[in-house]
Amino acid sequence: MTPEEFERGAAQAAAFIAAYWSRLQNDPASLSVLSTSKPGEVLGALPDEPPVHGASNALLDELFGKQELDALLPGLTHWQHPNFYAYFPANISGPAVIGELLAAGLGVQGMLWATSPACTELEMRVLDWLAGMLGLPETFTHASGTGGGVIQGTASEAVLTALVAARHRAVRSCRGAGEKPHLTLYASTQAHSSLIKAAMIAGLADSPDDRTHVRLIDVDSELRMRPDALACAMQDDLAAGRTPFFVCATLGTTASTAIDPLREIAAAVRAHAADVPPWLHVDAAHAGAACVCPEFRPMLNGVEHADSFCVNPHKWLLTNFDCDAFFVRDKRALIDSMSITPEYLRNTASDAGAVTDFRDWHVPLGRRFRALKLWMVIRWYGLEGLRHHIRSHAALAAMFESLVRSDDRFEILAPRTLNLVCFALRANDAASKSLLDRINASGRAYLSHAVLPLESGPRFALRMAVGSPNTREEHVRETWRLIQHLADGA
Ligand code: PLP
Repeated sequence: MTPEEFERGAAQAAAFIAAYWSRLQNDPASLSVLSTSKPGEVLGALPDEPPVHGASNALLDELFGKQELDALLPGLTHWQHPNFYAYFPANISGPAVIGELLAAGLGVQGMLWATSPACTELEMRVLDWLAGMLGLPETFTHASGTGGGVIQGTASEAVLTALVAARHRAVRSCRGAGEKPHLTLYASTQAHSSLIKAAMIAGLADSPDDRTHVRLIDVDSELRMRPDALACAMQDDLAAGRTPFFVCATLGTTASTAIDPLREIAAAVRAHAADVPPWLHVDAAHAGAACVCPEFRPMLNGVEHADSFCVNPHKWLLTNFDCDAFFVRDKRALIDSMSITPEYLRNTASDAGAVTDFRDWHVPLGRRFRALKLWMVIRWYGLEGLRHHIRSHAALAAMFESLVRSDDRFEILAPRTLNLVCFALRANDAASKSLLDRINASGRAYLSHAVLPLESGPRFALRMAVGSPNTREEHVRETWRLIQHLADGA
């Protein structure tokens, strides 16, 4: 493909995307939110063998002219649809997509500062911006000289990285004390499954249910981690000669967006008797984005005591997947656990210790120029634009909550902290589940579910997470009417 052919093809791709976005905004009812594809249907429609001879320019005609790409649309679940309310959002935006295109087109691989200084230094600047925009303490910035942020693929990779750094620090501090320590880690029963997966990858759990090293702490009536239960669990382990080394607090749990009380958790961690307290990681994958608004920042109280913090701009901050911002207070602790320098990576700048090499901040060596898309987003929308984005969703979720409360067939099952409403048909889990199935089968909206451990027992909740950039008041009202209508037949 010549540069001229690329320009033509990219223009066709851009026109295709723009038409898709317009359709999502102006004619969303023409698309089923949840894919209607049956297992194997897309696979079966694709040729078994790759072409021996390339189609060259004819490919563009096949994709765009003969509408081959349109044929893929039924196989998509439309995450940017205004009536997509499932899971947490996976926001995209025009500036982010342009940034992604630029990153791909420039084609640099920023494993070392020396392999593209701009790739590293733009990332440092943008993550310092983001730290300030979220109200994180200066200690989490590169400007502090001691901490800083790095873009990882996902919050799952971030928690694995934090866990490995924590283990390294704990094992080193126990060195000389004789036996290998029996390490223990803590999170609430509502923490994301990526934590246990990280423990499995790190060799600290043989299976999701293995509790040799993992302690899942009880939650209170609002599904937040109980700091007193955390303190007791750490004390029990200490008394038994074990070494608490890692605590994960969640700001915005996946099931209900519960906000763990960070200040009290940090106090429990610091009260820990050992010389080196456990590493405190804060998983704010979804809810952290809301901290661009000062009114949502109280959740950060205590974050100054955290060792690491992560938030996914690829969830609720208009930056397309993948983009997890991972901040550490003490970069040495992280780098010590991840750094390895084979001869072929040595270079003058790294050897002089004068530069940041992000390969030492995460698992992969190679890395894309992901900072470009976040840079584009922040510059295009500005802090105020991003605040508006968050506030409008929180307000729509509040409106939806009041609609649910006004219909006494329904009940709210968990406090709404931001943009997620957990609700159900009164005391009837089977009917709630069947209602959810009918909403999703309608193709007109897509919600997901959670089972919440309430004091009265586990309850099936429908989750309505308002977070698509295309969602407006009329979409939320229309979805509520759909839910009410389908509930009539429950
Ligand atoms: N942490 C929380 C609280 C989440 O809700 C999620 C996903 O929804 C994750 C972690 C995992 O995110 P990722 O897909 O970036 O690994």
